[in-house]
Amino acid sequence: MGSLDESSPYLRAQANLAELKLDRMCASMPDYVRMVSDGERDFAQAMAEMTQAEVGARRERVMRQRIRSSGFPYVKTLADFDWSFQPSVPRAKVEELATLRFVDEAENVLLVGSPGVGKTHLAVAIGVEAVKVGREVRFCDCARLVDDLKDAASRGILKKRLQYYAHSKLLIIDELGYLDIDEHGADLMFQLVSTRYEQRSTIITTNVGIGGWARVFGDDVAASAIADRVCHHCTLIKITGRSYRLKDVPSDRRKGD
Ligand code: ADP
Ligand code: MG
Repeated sequence: MGSLDESSPYLRAQANLAELKLDRMCASMPDYVRMVSDGERDFAQAMAEMTQAEVGARRERVMRQRIRSSGFPYVKTLADFDWSFQPSVPRAKVEELATLRFVDEAENVLLVGSPGVGKTHLAVAIGVEAVKVGREVRFCDCARLVDDLKDAASRGILKKRLQYYAHSKLLIIDELGYLDIDEHGADLMFQLVSTRYEQRSTIITTNVGIGGWARVFGDDVAASAIADRVCHHCTLIKITGRSYRLKDVPSDRRKGD
């Protein structure tokens, strides 16, 4: 069998780069071999440039993977947000949140507004910023989160599951209030919010102002216990504009907007 050791250094280098999955270096090597032999680059310059491209590609891959595993329903950034469409959004406040100081201080954010006004978009955008600087972020739909905790409780692994959620530097609970939460669910939410209180940041998006949480949780005491912990050290952003989803629908065809 023709061993690689006997082949040319060029072929060996190509085979090694391929085995190490350094695809970019493998692809750019022919150009760099030529540039080095023509004296356009010295060896160290060539290595620096080739490895830089590989490092850049790897960082990008890791970032994409982290964003995927955070559970965002879609990926949008603040650059994608049309501020002029939604003037009730306090831009400076949102941009301050995007510096992630609130995450370092374990503070919370509450985004309140009717459907389509950009609550999830802003929560995702802040979450993506946090992922980019290496913070662990978990995005959860509220109803699914409650179901998940109930499932864990029924299997006797609630403590472990709460620890899993408590671990994320930033937890985004999306769409609180779209579905009512029963007594057991309210108790589980209380436990979750308590484990994170003053330790980790939570962003909640909701179509129901705090005043309506008693209805959502079916109980005044549970609702105020949860609201109390969420609202202590919290930035409240109330969005009062119209739905972006209906922006191109003529006003005479809009219902309830
Ligand atoms: P909700 O407030 O119901 O969570 P979303 O944030 O999901 O609404 O917004 C609905 C859709 O409209 C998303 O695709 C979002 O990216 C887009 N969107 C909402 N507001 C804006 C805006 N001001 N600029 C750009 N896109 C927006
Ligand atoms: Mg939403």
